[in-house]
Formats: sequence, C-alpha cells, structure tokens
Amino acid sequence: MIIRDAQFVVSNTDYRKCPQDGKPEYAFIGRSNVGKSSLINMLTNRKGLAMTSSKPGKTQLINHFIINDEWYLVDLPGYGYAQRGKEGRDQIRKIIDSYIINRAELTCLFLLLDCRHEPQQIDIEFMNWLGEEGVPFVIVFTKIDKLSKGALKKNMEAYTDTLKETWEEIPPIFYSSAEHRLGADEILGYIEQINKS
Ligand code: GDP
Repeated sequence: MIIRDAQFVVSNTDYRKCPQDGKPEYAFIGRSNVGKSSLINMLTNRKGLAMTSSKPGKTQLINHFIINDEWYLVDLPGYGYAQRGKEGRDQIRKIIDSYIINRAELTCLFLLLDCRHEPQQIDIEFMNWLGEEGVPFVIVFTKIDKLSKGALKKNMEAYTDTLKETWEEIPPIFYSSAEHRLGADEILGYIEQINKS
C-alpha cells in the first residue's frame, strides 16, 4: 500500500467521541518507549505525525489519523508507564480497555514488543486478555536493528515458546526497525489485504 495522505484527525479519552464514519481502524499499542511513535512515523512516512515520548500529553490519548481517506491509524496510549503511578496507570488502562472492547471499527490491533526484552508479564497478561476478549491482534517486534541476527532469532524463539504455553495458535508476527526502515511494507500490506477482504 502506498500512503498518499496521512492526517491527524482527533484526540480523545472516550471511544464514543471517536470518528463516526465507520471506516476501519488499525490501532497500535505497546509499553512506553517500545518505539510506537517511530513506527507510526515510518509507516506513514511523516516525521512528526505521532508524538514521541519526549512530548508527553498526546501520548495519553486515543489519537486518530486518517490514511488515504480510507482507514484510521489509531495511536493508543502506552501502557504500564512506571512514572505515572498506579492511579495514572489504572486510568490509562481504563481508556485503552474501553476503546478495545467497545470500538466496533477496531479491525486489528498491532501489539508492539521490544525485540531485546524477554517476555514481560505485563505484555503476556495483556495478550491473554485480548485473547479472552476475542480481539484480533498481531505482534510487531520493534528495534530489530539493535540485535544481531543470531540474538534476534534466540529471543524470538524464547518468546514463541512462552506464547505456546497459553496459545494454541500464535498470532501473526512482524519485525520492524524505524532506524533502518524495515517492516513497513509487510505491515501496510497486511492492512491492505484485510481492507480488501
Ligand atoms: P514510544 O514511546 O513507544 O512512542 O517510543 P518512541 O518512538 O518515542 O521511541 C523510543 C526510543 O526508542 C527513542 O529514543 C527512539 O529513537 C528509539 N527507537 C524507536 N524505534 C527504534 C528503532 O527501530 N531502532 C532503534 N535503534 N531505536 C528506535
């Protein structure tokens, strides 16, 4: 898919106030610092479209971007951010959870994981919750430029082994590097395929 046009539309804390035109939505989520803004900026080929974590504020909201006037890219708040304290974290989880559970337009969720880290409980629990709620999602391992091929393979095997403990079928997996501009074609191709079907 070629992104001809990508524009910010609206920020919300309430899924009911999100756009009402029924276009499909593809949402991106992950822990803070996972590389979500960098990935969104790479996918859309717009440098400052998504705010990076160095600019807090918008990163705590549901941000809608309209792509090619066809679908919405949704930037969801990062979860489990230690500095926000429990109350802040709970509040953000409420915003995220109610969007994910109630938003009929949500077509697929892209869950971002830093390829350097071992499986983290908070991510595994989040995935298990998605499974229980029947939310379609895929995994994107980010920052793959930070690991050698061998180390990446080893980490991915450890990750899939952990997932296999709970999941009969592992969700589709993508690999990305905003630094080396890798993974955009695959992710956008996947979205295009779903939009066509
Ligand atoms: P967010 O909090 O998930 O939106 O993460 P950001 O996109 O703001 O990225 C967090 C940090 O990781 C920044 O310092 C980025 O430069 C860095 N980063 C993001 N993606 C990549 C990547 O693919 N490769 C490398 N090497 N660094 C990355």
